[in-house]
Amino acid sequence: MQDNVTTKNSILTYQNNREFAKACDANDPLASFRNEFLFPKDKDGNPLIYLCGNSLGLQPKRTQSYIEQELKDWAAFGVEGHTDATHPWLPYHEFLTESMASLVGAKPSEVVVMNTLTTNLHLLMVSFYQPTKTKYKIVVESDAFPSDKYAVESQLRFHGFDPKDGLILWKPREGEELCRYEDLEAIMETEGDEIALLMIGSTNYYSGQHFPLKKITELGHSHGCMVGFDLAHGAGNIAPDLHETGADFAVWCSYKYLNSGPGSLGGLFVHERHAQNPELKRFVGWWGHNKQTRFNMRHDFDPLPGAEGWQLSNPPILSMAAIRASLDVFMEAGFQNLREKSVKLTGYLEFLVDELNDPRIYIITPREPKERGCQLSIQVKSADKRLHTQLTEAGVISDWREPDVIRVAPTPLYNSFEDVYEFVQRLKSILN
Ligand SMILES: *Cc1c(COP(=O)(O)O)cnc(C)c1O
Repeated sequence: MQDNVTTKNSILTYQNNREFAKACDANDPLASFRNEFLFPKDKDGNPLIYLCGNSLGLQPKRTQSYIEQELKDWAAFGVEGHTDATHPWLPYHEFLTESMASLVGAKPSEVVVMNTLTTNLHLLMVSFYQPTKTKYKIVVESDAFPSDKYAVESQLRFHGFDPKDGLILWKPREGEELCRYEDLEAIMETEGDEIALLMIGSTNYYSGQHFPLKKITELGHSHGCMVGFDLAHGAGNIAPDLHETGADFAVWCSYKYLNSGPGSLGGLFVHERHAQNPELKRFVGWWGHNKQTRFNMRHDFDPLPGAEGWQLSNPPILSMAAIRASLDVFMEAGFQNLREKSVKLTGYLEFLVDELNDPRIYIITPREPKERGCQLSIQVKSADKRLHTQLTEAGVISDWREPDVIRVAPTPLYNSFEDVYEFVQRLKSILN
């Protein structure tokens, strides 16, 4: 799937008033999807302005019935539910693969839903981080999500290397907030021979910057490195076109933009060129074994081709039911439609924040729609956590990052233009 975003100039001209926001909502072909979701409410029963889908997506109304179906089938069938449930549990993960693959721009054989993000990252580093004495370093973007950094550091130690020497940070320049591609090129130029792996967050959780994945992959490969991406902030937000990028592997979670519930299972991608590669080491379990002979139990391990071959365990069906519910909503809306709305919605947020004309405010996130998803990271100089508390008290659910950044993510499935308008009004009255 190509990420064909409209560029800034072709977007409608925005207006800073509620009537305009309401008119955008009235003309929004996706507006009805808001009714597919359950909104947390304040103590008077009014829905909160929920701009935190980058942290935990809202619950689709249909999720409950999808999970209840599995509980009913468990009650009715016991173990026979593996084959006789309405959606049989043995192949249950397969019901998710096609939609999930389409959301990340991969072939179905390249994607599987299993485990959680950090676990999958480790499992894929077992396969794709195979250092030698001289080629062992790992590059991550600075301000990578802490879990990714910990995982990568522990892999270095596991192989006997010191992260102080083995971990290379791709950093923004002094006084800047965003990473420049040229600086990654410079790192590869000087240290490429010693680098084994590039592990980059496709869309940085802090700044909201979306990186050029294909260019990064080609750069890494040209220096003989493996390239993996963490799509925690990309999946369901930007179509990363994974197959096209040529990346070796990717991991993501489903509870942020993918609205599948707290701690729900993650997804992973292994490029098809590795589908049958017997040279790749991996940690295995019975769910990655040939489906025809899995229950004979006495065969030597015979890996399934493609991403499925990395599965270890039979998966939690209740979590997968929630993912299935959410993916169905995405498929009904159509990802390209969502992305088009997202560009307009976040553009409107940007416009309104600029209209505040407040010298304390600085938008860290790139201005170019192709270089971001729906999130804007708004720095409020000299503010502290009290600002976030005040926003919460004013009925806005947003996210705070020390020392002075509010992250807000209007999601195209359930946020409206009026939500965005209302958020900026409330921010304005707090700042005054
Ligand atoms: C949310 C997030 C995680 C969380 O990892 P889990 O294993 O799902 O707890 C990891 N990495 C990034 C980049 C994230 O945004």
